Amino acid sequence: SQISDLVAGKLRDIPDFPKPGVVFKDFTPLFADGPALRELVRDIAQRYAGSVDVIVGIEARGFILGAAVAYELGLGMVPVRKAGKLPGETLRESYALEYGTAEIEVHTDAFQPGQRVLVIDDVLATGGTAEATALLVERAGAKVAAIEVVLELSFLEGRKRLAHHPVNAILTV
Ligand code: 5GP
Repeated sequence: SQISDLVAGKLRDIPDFPKPGVVFKDFTPLFADGPALRELVRDIAQRYAGSVDVIVGIEARGFILGAAVAYELGLGMVPVRKAGKLPGETLRESYALEYGTAEIEVHTDAFQPGQRVLVIDDVLATGGTAEATALLVERAGAKVAAIEVVLELSFLEGRKRLAHHPVNAILTV
């Protein structure tokens, strides 16, 4: 489609980042392009207009996209952050990385009960981050309406871990 071609043309492969053997998909050229960013944000927003109540953006690139989509829809944006960054009382989830674990948090009072949440991030890889985010949203009393990512790395099969939720990727490789 037009939007997936636009996105594909604005992502950059960075070999051996953050470590040898990994090809990192760099979103900075996409975010730096005004018309492309606007088209992407509007594409996401129109998909969920009227069916979600609040946006969750996952640190850090999910903040950029999530805030823009929230603004476009006139909704609020709730940050899910790496542990230790949020100032108020938080809920925390741990998940496995290839080496070690990661922890993310959300404010305990981030949602109204039953709010329909759209979770936004840049990349779906193993699905650990999105799965932990969905657990946090539900523990905080809201509902995951959908998970939207720009890029899905399908060979890592992250979607299998998110089987209970609708997942949409603009681009799948
Ligand atoms: P997962 O938890 O699905 O394995 O990894 C997804 C998380 O790691 C997302 O928050 C995403 O921002 C980040 N991530 C993993 N690989 C990449 C990549 O190649 N490019 C970018 N931009 N982010 C990545």
